[in-house]
Amino acid sequence: MKYIFVTGGVVSSLGKGLTAAALGTLLENRGLKVALQKFDPYLNVDPGTMSPFQHGEVYVLDDGTETDLDLGHYERFTHTQLTRLNNLTSGRVYLNVIEKERRGDYLGKTVQVIPHVTDEIQQRILDVAAESKADVIITEIGGTTGDIEGLPFLEAIREFALEQGPQNAMFIHVTYVPFIKAAGELKTKPTQQSVAKLREIGIFPNIIACRCEKPLDKDLRQKISMFCNVPFEAVIEAKDVDHSIYEMPLMLQRERVDQLVCDQLRLDRPAANMAHWQEIIRKLIAPQHRVRIGVVGKYIGLQDAYKSVYEAVIHGGVGNDCGVELVQVDAEDIERHGAESKLKGLGGILVPGGFGDRGIEGKIMAAQYARENNVPYLGLCLGMQIATIEFARNVLKLERAHSAEFDPASPHPVIAMLDSQLKVTKKGGTMRLGAQPCQLGMDTLAAKLYGAFVIKERHRHRFEFNNNYRDKFTKAGFVFSGTSPDGKLVEIIEIPNHPFYIACQFHPEFLSKPDQPHPLFKGFISAAHQKAHQKAL
Ligand code: GLN
Repeated sequence: MKYIFVTGGVVSSLGKGLTAAALGTLLENRGLKVALQKFDPYLNVDPGTMSPFQHGEVYVLDDGTETDLDLGHYERFTHTQLTRLNNLTSGRVYLNVIEKERRGDYLGKTVQVIPHVTDEIQQRILDVAAESKADVIITEIGGTTGDIEGLPFLEAIREFALEQGPQNAMFIHVTYVPFIKAAGELKTKPTQQSVAKLREIGIFPNIIACRCEKPLDKDLRQKISMFCNVPFEAVIEAKDVDHSIYEMPLMLQRERVDQLVCDQLRLDRPAANMAHWQEIIRKLIAPQHRVRIGVVGKYIGLQDAYKSVYEAVIHGGVGNDCGVELVQVDAEDIERHGAESKLKGLGGILVPGGFGDRGIEGKIMAAQYARENNVPYLGLCLGMQIATIEFARNVLKLERAHSAEFDPASPHPVIAMLDSQLKVTKKGGTMRLGAQPCQLGMDTLAAKLYGAFVIKERHRHRFEFNNNYRDKFTKAGFVFSGTSPDGKLVEIIEIPNHPFYIACQFHPEFLSKPDQPHPLFKGFISAAHQKAHQKAL
């Protein structure tokens, strides 16, 4: 078993997660089985209770674990199977340690950060190793070196790597080399300082990946090599990618990062064949077609809040050789200026998941606009609930129809709380979560897109379609095309006699990859492109 630890220096948001994921792609394409894992130094037990404003999207795994969005990158870039073991927060570590203490597992001892907290962290690496049976485990440490709260993790991996030996464990430090305009040059000092900080703790990086906006010339590489104590060829230029994050594996390959890793860890594997990946990039950079897709949400302008949604839309584009221009529409702007002014000319409209009532009316207006103007519509989770409310109000004429989440006094709560949620009082990890089977109806758009009748998709919600209204909706032509196998929970709805109007209670965006676009997104982009094309003719 080989171990790679990815740390970050100078500032956050350097793309450590993407670097880890892209390295995973390369190692997989060298025929290695790879597992990825993320350690997060904050005290929440998981990110499930954090707002997207704090932390970006919450990514959900098959087993229902609510995780950091970097795990989404891991699943999109590799074929690794992630579980609750693959994301560990300080909160979880301390919770485990304190529960053990209360049980008496440490009876007689003083419980301390070293060794008890660090042991708990190391055990998690071993657990992932045992569960995944991977050849290589890549562990990303969240936060930035120098943070007080990250120290136990760094100490844990230092000890762990020492025990494994230099041929079995290595460190990659992702750092920042800023371009200072006034001086007209890239500066290496922050990198030197963050590496010095790591070395103080006893971690000596084997590779330094330098994020930079301008090329890192030979002199600078030499300087970093000299002052950070790494070989010249292990100073990597990680320049901002031009078009797409999916260029990352190719960029790391050009910089020979996977070769350096294989040399260090004594992995004798042939070079990665990335031809299929190059074809994906070709479709991203020079697609045959183009379409504009509006995403109507409330966390617009926050790049990370709908991460998986944006990625899945782009994958849907790859599946159609179609470049997607994402137009981020603020739902409250629709409320202020009307749907037409914000949505006219778009090839498709997507309403993603969400919580809380801000912008809800704008989203309902967007769904109505899509339905009435034959614009392809894809609704995800809240987006399905929105489509339902819109249909109830404007087609069934059920006045003040709403979701009980937003209007508990509505005379027509067409979206109501799941029975299983009625007794739930705690907020952390208590929604309907994770992969659940769904049965698709014959002759439905859903079955046609999936090419199957039983599917499995990931969930994260507390509310659902209210079955008291099923007959009314069915009579008016609203189709319940997917339900839980017992027929009780509505999972997919669609409106026929429309070019493409489909919405689901689950989150298909979590299962899409660039080389395996999700069928709902692929179908959506195909319909959107056809619609735009027809208009052009
Ligand atoms: N707020 C809605 C619910 O809890 C939708 C959740 C979501 O979009 N993830 O059911």
